[in-house]
Amino acid sequence: MALSKVAHHWDDGLGAGMDTLRVAIAGAGIGGLAAAMALAREGVRVDIYEQASELREVGVGLHLASNGSRILRGWGLSEPLARVAVRPAALEVRDWTSGRTLTRQDMGDAWERRFGAPF
Ligand SMILES: Cc1cc2nc3c(=O)[nH]c(=O)nc-3n(C[C@H](O)[C@H](O)[C@H](O)COP(=O)(O)OP(=O)(O)OC[C@H]3O[C@@H](n4cnc5c(N)ncnc54)[C@H](O)[C@@H]3O)c2cc1C
Repeated sequence: MALSKVAHHWDDGLGAGMDTLRVAIAGAGIGGLAAAMALAREGVRVDIYEQASELREVGVGLHLASNGSRILRGWGLSEPLARVAVRPAALEVRDWTSGRTLTRQDMGDAWERRFGAPF
């Protein structure tokens, strides 16, 4: 996605009654974009300013905890997320010298039931 240094307007038109409020957000990282999405859904006009000329992958994996995925689910993004995400079955902490498992936490469906959204 190419972004210039000028403002980018984002208003999905879902909200109402706050059309006179304008918010400027500096930075189109996940924080800025999530804030913009939340505000736009409430009808706030949002302008996002990003210094980088381009937004692109930086080549890392990203763990998304249940509190975050719960918000994305609320925004109707469960399906696109499920297409690209892997749901871990368990979390294990191991001794790096021997590989011995020190602790194990089951995840998957049990985790989703407990926290209301997948990890
Ligand atoms: C290698 C690595 C692995 C990670 N793994 C995970 C993980 O698995 N799970 C997890 O939850 N988190 C992970 N994190 C942390 C996560 O990436 C950050 O917490 C998150 O991206 C921060 O988002 P942000 O929007 O606050 O900031 P950023 O993503 O840093 O976005 C800030 C944006 O603001 C722009 N900007 C800065 N100053 C200005 C300005 N003055 N004007 C306009 N634009 C500006 C920047 O160009 C940038 O695009 C990882 C981080 C790294 C580096």
